[in-house]
Amino acid sequence: MIYRRTEEEIELQRESSLLVGETLAEVARHLRAGITTIELDKIAETFIRDHGALPAFKGYGGFPASVCISVNDEVVHGIPGNRVLKEGDIVSIDCGVLKHGFYGDSAYTFPIGEIEPEVMLLLERTKNALYEGIAKAVDGMRVGDVAYAIQSYIEQFGYGIVRELVGHGVGKKLHEKPEVPNYGRRGTGPKLTEGMVIAIEPMINLGLRNISQDDDGWTIRTIDKLPSAHFEHTVAIKKNKADILSSFDMIEEVLKQKRK
Ligand code: MG
Ligand code: MG
Repeated sequence: MIYRRTEEEIELQRESSLLVGETLAEVARHLRAGITTIELDKIAETFIRDHGALPAFKGYGGFPASVCISVNDEVVHGIPGNRVLKEGDIVSIDCGVLKHGFYGDSAYTFPIGEIEPEVMLLLERTKNALYEGIAKAVDGMRVGDVAYAIQSYIEQFGYGIVRELVGHGVGKKLHEKPEVPNYGRRGTGPKLTEGMVIAIEPMINLGLRNISQDDDGWTIRTIDKLPSAHFEHTVAIKKNKADILSSFDMIEEVLKQKRK
């Protein structure tokens, strides 16, 4: 079952999705070498609850924390803990909230201080790939058009595209149909129609596409130990242009201020 939302429902989901962006911005304010990932998790959880929402990931499938924090070669689903961030790390933070019965889901990969230029390029290009996909997320296109746009943009750089994990419909449940892969063929897959809401989330590896899961049952990492980036937006399908319900604006304002 693929759901289509009314205008009113989409506005509720925009509120949830924007709260995710604000939460990631709040976390970004505190991001620095020397902080632990569990401290960041607490900041996110407090911020979400203070805004009348619930952290969507807490307890989801047994996940023990409020956000997923994945460092360097960790792709996604990292569990916050006592790990201390250091200069040169990259940190992917994936956040979901539930408010007024609707979920928002968004992720951003942050550099800690100065990072290797080739890793900075990986971050920029993974974010670009997300927007390449979003550009195809309009009424009448198919999921494969989004997937192909991401794949064809990324493959020119020789990066690995994670295939085992995909984007998804998002609404009254965190994960709904359809699945939205980051690789695929044009003109294939479910048709996108006005009112559908999907999370698009390329997970891109500097090296090989292959991943493994840690013994903790959650953490996904690259098998070649090279870094991986993850950017995600919640997007509503409209007639001529995707409506991006989440936002990186608040996050990037914080990052700009911190560079000054
Ligand atoms: Mg997410
Ligand atoms: Mg997601």
